[in-house]
Amino acid sequence: MKAQVLSATGPVEDGRLALVERPVPEPAGGEILVRVAACGVCHTELDEIEGRLPPRLPVVPGHQIVGRVERLGAGSSGFDPGDRVGIAWINWACGTCAACLAGNENLCPRARWTGKDVDGGYAEYAVVPEAFAYPIPDRFSDAEAAPLLCAGVIGYRALRLTHLDDGQTLALFGFGASAHIVIQIAKRRCPASKLFVVTRSEQHRALARKLGADWTGAPGEALPGEVHRAIDFTPVGSTVRDALAGLAPGGRLVVNAIRKRDPVPELDYATHLWHEKELKSTANVTRRDVEEFLPLAAEISIVPEVETFPLAQANEALVKLKRGAIRAAAVLTMGGGGRNGE
Ligand SMILES: [Zn+2]
Ligand SMILES: [Zn+2]
Repeated sequence: MKAQVLSATGPVEDGRLALVERPVPEPAGGEILVRVAACGVCHTELDEIEGRLPPRLPVVPGHQIVGRVERLGAGSSGFDPGDRVGIAWINWACGTCAACLAGNENLCPRARWTGKDVDGGYAEYAVVPEAFAYPIPDRFSDAEAAPLLCAGVIGYRALRLTHLDDGQTLALFGFGASAHIVIQIAKRRCPASKLFVVTRSEQHRALARKLGADWTGAPGEALPGEVHRAIDFTPVGSTVRDALAGLAPGGRLVVNAIRKRDPVPELDYATHLWHEKELKSTANVTRRDVEEFLPLAAEISIVPEVETFPLAQANEALVKLKRGAIRAAAVLTMGGGGRNGE
């Protein structure tokens, strides 16, 4: 099979992934072999490739995988060959530690992460424990479903962690793959809430307005009112400080990023934290997050906007993502095919 392999970390502009021929992996007991149709491209891959979140090496990245079951490993019975399934960031958790037993398998110290600790979906085939694969709702194409599996699920988790009540104002900092899905959930669940979007790119501000933002602006512009809840999707450290500064008393900021590209600047207690402001990060996802979110995405007719690239152009897609030049979500498609409309 063809696979994009990372062997040494460094700047994505150097073209760190190499397209190679590899044997198709064998599904072990309890696993399934999946023929990959599409795999989303995530900011976390930039963190892995550039060494901020060092992966096992060599590794096949990619943790937003949509494909069809090709073969079952010994003892697997949850799916049939041909079933369409998704694979997300959580590849395995121990099930016995305190975090797992409390329902927080996203915090399991022994958990394995797809495309980081085990090979992921920048390839024609991938294996996964069947307990960590999910049916994909029919209404999404393969490419549309891919960004739901991380951008969508982690956004759903981040939105839940904000504890947004209908009528409270929500600000989204950064507007890419995850935020463009979150705004669709927030509009549906909290129709009386005002939604502000702060992002550098006019292309992203235009998409935010199209999806129902009440106000959009660039970083540094004054927000048009008090913000009760905020989510920071950016790789920029100073967004944490700026978002905290704009929170109303009792407000809460949730940061949806595994790593920041640059440090969070020093916070001033009186300005950024006093008045019972809260700051919370989002770490990983649980199977429950995926199982709740996928049917919800189908039910509320979320429309993921995707820009597709052939597997061979993974490096190009990553560079474009790093530059902020992807309009919404980038997705690799296997077996030929080019960008939308080409
Ligand atoms: Zn991701
Ligand atoms: Zn555990």
